[in-house]
This record gives sequence, C-alpha cells and structure tokens, in this order.
Amino acid sequence: MTNRSVITIDHWIDGRRVANGTDDRAPVTNPATGEQIAEVGLAAAADVGAAVASAATAFAQWRDASLAKRTEVMFRFRQLLDANRDRLAEAITTQHGKVFADALGEVQRGIEVAEFACGIPHLLRGEMTPDVSTSVDAFSVRQPLGVVVGITPFNFPVMVPMWMIPMAIACGNTFVLKPSEKDPAGGMLLAELFSEAGLPPGVLNVLHGDAAAVNGLLDHPDVSAVSFVGSTPIAKHIYQRATANGKRVQALGGAKNHMLVLPDADIGQAADAAVSAGYGSAGERCMAISVVVAVGDVGDRLIPAIVERTNALRIGPGMSAEAVDMGALVTAAHRDRVSSYVDLGLSEGADLVLDGRGISVEGHPGGFWLGPCLFDHVTADMKIYQDEIFGPVLAVMRVETYAEAIELVNSNPYGNGTAIFTNDGGAARLFQRDVQVGMVGINVPIPVPMAYHSFGGWKDSLFGDTHVYGAEGVKFYTRYKAVTVRWPDPSERGVDLGFPQAR
Ligand code: NAD
Repeated sequence: MTNRSVITIDHWIDGRRVANGTDDRAPVTNPATGEQIAEVGLAAAADVGAAVASAATAFAQWRDASLAKRTEVMFRFRQLLDANRDRLAEAITTQHGKVFADALGEVQRGIEVAEFACGIPHLLRGEMTPDVSTSVDAFSVRQPLGVVVGITPFNFPVMVPMWMIPMAIACGNTFVLKPSEKDPAGGMLLAELFSEAGLPPGVLNVLHGDAAAVNGLLDHPDVSAVSFVGSTPIAKHIYQRATANGKRVQALGGAKNHMLVLPDADIGQAADAAVSAGYGSAGERCMAISVVVAVGDVGDRLIPAIVERTNALRIGPGMSAEAVDMGALVTAAHRDRVSSYVDLGLSEGADLVLDGRGISVEGHPGGFWLGPCLFDHVTADMKIYQDEIFGPVLAVMRVETYAEAIELVNSNPYGNGTAIFTNDGGAARLFQRDVQVGMVGINVPIPVPMAYHSFGGWKDSLFGDTHVYGAEGVKFYTRYKAVTVRWPDPSERGVDLGFPQAR
C-alpha cells in the first residue's frame, strides 16, 4: 500500500527531472522493513522517445567536445563520487538491502572505473604510420558510436551503471541508462553528480521502466549500441532483438560460479572464502560462489569449518548501527523464490546442513529475510545445481578427482567466474589454462577484474564479443577508422586505374 512518505522517482532527461508520461508506476521497497518507500515511473513510448531524442541532440556537440573538456568533467565527477560515497551507499542499502559496508565497496569499485576513464586521452590514441607509399601517410582513429543504451540489474545499482557510463561518455558517446526498477535511486544520483560535474544536458539520461521501456530502446533507430547486464534469458533476448535491429551489443548474463577446493588447500582459508563469497550480499552477486566442489577428502574437513563461520554471521538491516554481515533480500518475491529452492533441494535428496528459512530479525518483522542455507551432497542432476538461485544458498558437491571437478565446471552452461583453492602451483596453472570461464581466481574467491582489465564471462554468461570496461570497454564504445592521406609533391600528376599499392 502507498503511504504518505512514498516519494516519486522521475526520469532524468535533458539535464532535469521529468515526470513519467503515464500513471504507470512500480513500487520500490526497503527490503529491511518491507515498506514501500518510493514509486518509479514505467516509461512508455513517448518517454523512451524523449530520452533518446535528448541523447541524439547532445551527441552532435559532445562528440566534438575536446578531450581536455571530457577529461575535466570526468575528473570532477570522480571527486564528487568520492565526496558522496556515503550518500550513494545509503541509496543502495535502502533499496537493495545489502549492508552499508558492502554498498561502500560497490561504490569504490565504481569509482575505479571513473578513474580509469580519466585517462581517456591516452586510451583513445590512434596509430600513425608515415610514408606507407610515396607522399602517403596512414593513421587510425577510434570514433564514438552515437547514442548508447545501458540496461542494468538490481544487484549493483551503482557499480554496474558505472561499468558503462564513464567509459561510454569519455569516448564521446551520449547515454541512456535504464536502471533496475527495483532500486532506481543509485542511477539518479549518478546523473545528478555528473550534472554537477559539468556534463552538458542530454549526454546522460536516466529512463526508468520495465520490459516495455527496454524493448522501446532496443527498437529505436537512433540507438547505436546496447550494454546489458542481468539474467541469462533476458541477456539472450536483448542480444537477439538488438542485433536484429543492427545495433552493437554486449549482453552479460547470469552465473553459477564453482569454487574448487583441492585436498592440499588451507581449509581455514577456503572456508573463509566460501562463506564470504557464498553469503556476501545475501548471495545476490553475479560473482557469488554458489557451488563448492570438494575434491577427494576435502568435504568432511571443509563442511564443519563452513558451518562454524556461517553460524557466526549477523543478519540484520543494512543500515543498522550495529555490525551486520548480511542484509535482507531485494524483494519478498525474490526471497520466496530463493526459499522455494531450499524446499526443492530437500525434495531432490540433497542434505540441508544449514536452514535459513523462517528466520526473524528483532524489530524488523516485515523485512525480506532469509538466513544462510547450506546443502551437502548436491549432484549435477539436481535443479538446485543447474539453476541460478541468486540468494544465500551454497551447494557443496563432492568429487573424487581434479579431472572430475574441471569436467563439472566445463560442462556447466554458465562461464562467469570460478576459483580454485590449492597450494599446488601446477594444478592452479592447469586450471587457469583449461577452465571454460571468463574470470578465474587462484586462491581468490571473487575475481572481479580491476578497472584497467575487463569484466565478462564466457558461454551463457555473455552474449557478444566484448567484455565491459577497461580496454575492451574503449573498443566496444568506439568504432575503428583507417585514414590514408596523400599530400603530393605538386610536380606529381597522372591518372592510374590500378589497385592502390605502395610505391
Ligand atoms: P533481470 O534480467 O531480471 O533484469 C535486468 C534488467 O533487464 C532490468 O533493468 C530489467 O528491468 C530488465 N528486464 C527484465 N525483464 C525484462 C524483459 N522481459 N525484457 C526486457 N528487459 C527486461 O536481472 P536482475 O534480476 O535485475 O539481476 C540479477 C541477474 O543479473 C542475475 O541473473 C545475475 O547473475 C545477473 N548479473 C550478471 C552480472 C554479470 O556481470 N554477468 C552482473 C550482475 C548481475
């Protein structure tokens, strides 16, 4: 039910807040209380048209803005992000549910991409070859694409938009962000900070909405490229529809990330990593570990160590003044879906070692709580192994050998992240070479690449060729052009119908 303290979150178009064109709205809740705190407009065709038109108009000037100007805006934006860390993190926690310290970590990883984008003059440098033929020089440049769209998921409402926006804008494009309708505040704050940093109106627009808004953007003739991050079925849809419309697309999908623990691993470190990566952000991370593959006799030693650490976790409101490790799940519907997988796992015959269903948090009866759940003896034919659950449900699978373990990972349709825990350098080397996964950690459970590398999975975790941010981000948001120049000697004349060759 809507109450009086519910605020309306508008679109950000042409450098100002713009109300939705229709009364179509979605509720935004605080996961720790279960209360509706905001409503967000769901864009219809006219709103989509206005956002794209604003970005298309702004492109004409922004593509010609000097690198000095673009860099100046980016440096100011970076400073504003730094000064507004707490505000951004609070917006994340209040609508997503993750704990404040974790939200601060998310903000930091976003800031790092803005810092990388500050180096855009260096990143956009082309190559030049003089004298490729007599009086002829050749050089290459990378030019912006035009209006670029970013469609982002609920689980990183600041960091994932930041994977895209600074890179796209620094490269000279204009941008329309369609954030998740579940936690839209983070995207709006980024737009306000960019505006304060001096970004001209229209270069960054934020359009709220659901499938209708997304499909409107995918079909719009003035949109040149689409960056998407979200679940695999939607990523596939985005890729197919947008490429059919002739757009450049990178669509990052879901995940099922395996963590191998070899018999020689430090069990304490492996248990720390499994608990941190399995239950951090209540498992709502695309790089969360959801499957621990215990090799040889590891399971009997590892499970008690995981249980001991998990039992010490404090669950509560993300903004609590007291220390909490894990917050609420994003919505009641998502909590119920994750919880139903625990029921399913039991009926499939897995051993439920820890059951987080039905937990209560004092003073917060309406929150979307689900405590950590741990399954042992999970097998590859079970749905709880095959599906992305995206919650605090960790599965332990037991295999006899390393060969079985890598076969398991490589047979899985997802290929986002993976990790191996071992003290055997040779085994780790084999693993990083042979595993069919885009991001690999060796004794590192959540190997999210730094801003100067690039992020992306393989197989059903990424549709398209290019990973996000870093050098791959520059490549995605620009188009290559080769220029051949002749400033002839005035004495040289003559028609030549032959195919150009160096002479
Ligand atoms: P989602 O796929 O439901 O939504 C992502 C975006 O797509 C949202 O903006 C949403 O409004 C839009 N959308 C939803 N349904 C749509 C439809 N039918 N047509 C068009 N657009 C639609 O994902 P989510 O639940 O917000 O986020 C969680 C998912 O994102 C998980 O699967 C997670 O693994 C994935 N994820 C992946 C990465 C990665 O880097 N690979 C990073 C973060 C999250």
